[in-house]
Amino acid sequence: MAATDPQIVTTSLPTGLALVEREIAAACRDARRDRASVTLVAVSKTFAADDIVPVIAAGQTVFGENRVQEAKAKWPALTAAHPGLELHLIGPLQSNKAKEAVALFDAIHSVDRPSLCEALAREIEKQARKPQLFVQLNTGEEPQKAGIAPQDADDFIARCRSAYGLEIAGLMCIPPVEDAPGPHFALTAKIAARNGLKLLSMGMSADFAIAIQFGATHVRVGSAIFGHRPPLTAR
Ligand SMILES: *Cc1c(COP(=O)(O)O)cnc(C)c1O
Repeated sequence: MAATDPQIVTTSLPTGLALVEREIAAACRDARRDRASVTLVAVSKTFAADDIVPVIAAGQTVFGENRVQEAKAKWPALTAAHPGLELHLIGPLQSNKAKEAVALFDAIHSVDRPSLCEALAREIEKQARKPQLFVQLNTGEEPQKAGIAPQDADDFIARCRSAYGLEIAGLMCIPPVEDAPGPHFALTAKIAARNGLKLLSMGMSADFAIAIQFGATHVRVGSAIFGHRPPLTAR
């Protein structure tokens, strides 16, 4: 898009992105952190290419999707048209989709069981691709939620490394909706530190500023950028 065309700029300026950027900058200042230490992952799940292109045009380069099939349908054309984009998988991954996931994504935030580790290790070797890997923690120990329980995290991370030769870059968590998120972020940061992990994927539209206080390096923000999504059942 021609950034000099005033008509196009005024009709497609993504306000959500600008507001999120402003809040990230303020949270970084409050926490005395460098803005460059926080990566904004713009979560575009359920949104069509037409909604995503203005956000790319505004300078956003890192995007998140929660389903392999949806990402596969949407992103190859977008990445071909806009070189330099990074695509992150933030949703659960079935082992039988590891091949597609390794081919498509630059980061996977949902490593949470040995069978998936095995499938990922095989594809990483075969495809000679190296997506950044995050182990997902279930800090609230919610039965319906994916992720490793906090008390099993050290063992699981060690096993990822020793049994599967995976390089784990960081941890991801999704606090229970009814809880204050701070303690979940703090616990995730503590487990990362004692396992020598530098990256922390935590914080969504409602709580990314708090996550930045607790050291988030990746905030996954969807609705605050793109607007409300249709309900889960309609996806
Ligand atoms: C959808 C989703 C997000 C973004 O949620 P918002 O509340 O819209 O910001 C972040 N992380 C994961 C894992 C998601 O599935």
